[in-house]
Amino acid sequence: MANIGDYRKDFDILNSGDYVYFDNAATSQRPNQVLDAISNFYRTANANPLRGLYDWSIAATDMYEDSRRVVADFIGAATPEEIIFTRNTSESLNLVAYSYGLDNVSEGDEVVISVMEHHSNILPWQMVCRKKNAKLVYLEPDEEGVISKEEYESKITDRTKVVAIGHVSNVMGVTNPVKEIVAYAKSKGAIVVVDGAQSTPHMKINVQDLGADFFAFSGHKMLGPMGIGVLYGRKELLENMSPFLTGGEMIEYVTRTDATYAELPHKFEAGTVNASGAVGLAEAIRYLQNVGFEAIEAQEQKLTALLMEGMSKLPYIKIYGSKDPKKHCGIVTFTIDGVHPHDISSVLNDDHVCIRAGHHCAQPLMQFIGEGSTARASLYFYNTEEEVKIFLEKLAKVREVMGYGA
Ligand code: PMP
Repeated sequence: MANIGDYRKDFDILNSGDYVYFDNAATSQRPNQVLDAISNFYRTANANPLRGLYDWSIAATDMYEDSRRVVADFIGAATPEEIIFTRNTSESLNLVAYSYGLDNVSEGDEVVISVMEHHSNILPWQMVCRKKNAKLVYLEPDEEGVISKEEYESKITDRTKVVAIGHVSNVMGVTNPVKEIVAYAKSKGAIVVVDGAQSTPHMKINVQDLGADFFAFSGHKMLGPMGIGVLYGRKELLENMSPFLTGGEMIEYVTRTDATYAELPHKFEAGTVNASGAVGLAEAIRYLQNVGFEAIEAQEQKLTALLMEGMSKLPYIKIYGSKDPKKHCGIVTFTIDGVHPHDISSVLNDDHVCIRAGHHCAQPLMQFIGEGSTARASLYFYNTEEEVKIFLEKLAKVREVMGYGA
């Protein structure tokens, strides 16, 4: 078995200078194997997939559909038809809101989400509730970011039609009890949409075990290319939904006044597809499977523990969420007394340390914790102990640079 440190050599960008990249929750880096797979598609099989009857187009179609099978196996879908390729998590969640939400949520119904959601899992449901005169209900976590059983059992009721919940919060790093929430929501007759953007890169996902009706994620956060995302949906639900986007490739037959739609999954994939993106994502999945999620989690937990231990020695730093590094999924969100998060990020950037600062597209959560913005360091398995040391060293200088005494 390879040592976890051996994989870093595959990421040219990480080895090209002295940058410490701790913004992995925003987007990951890609190994050469993924870059080569994308390039190989264009170099050897480029033609419009699903259209041509000649060799290159057939090869492009095969590569695209093989990638769908890889994704289906990766998340435990019952069949590849349940895998819809989209641009990203945002598009996947919009697809569910427009194609399922608008047709199945009615006046007086309720949609339950949490206050920790990314805007991508808030705005589509605000739209549905506004258009259908339904109520948007928010689950609230405790101090550690945990949504308790009492909380979800009191807010998911017979009026709930949809529960849309993040698997892992991009701010708190906490893993929500999705399996338990799904079981409870089902007992009330609701369907459950899971935003897996921050869980899929870090843990083994099995959509059937979770019981999710829909599960969305992005390729770019898990070593894959930007511009390719996935929506898993249970076949019987997808079959009964109307298309989100219309146009080429998603039809069976069109007349001047009407159209019949293609079978799944193509009904939801209008226009020329992102075939090289799908091929790159499949390669990213093979890469992650080769590293193994046990090794990924172990490395992330080790680094997060070092990071949080070092940060806890600086009394002016506040870390949000759990005190337990194992419950952070590599995400550590923090503030420094008297220093704006944008200044933290800019000062660290002067030392070639990349972190995120701002509202992290989670403004209702910022309002809930009483902050306008926060700083966030987020790790992935290819980060190193040495990088954590550099980060801590540079972090300890931030207040001084901002004019506070040493
Ligand atoms: N949900 C969560 C939890 C996220 O962290 C993100 C990305 N920051 C998204 C949704 C949106 O992902 P994308 O920008 O790829 O659509």
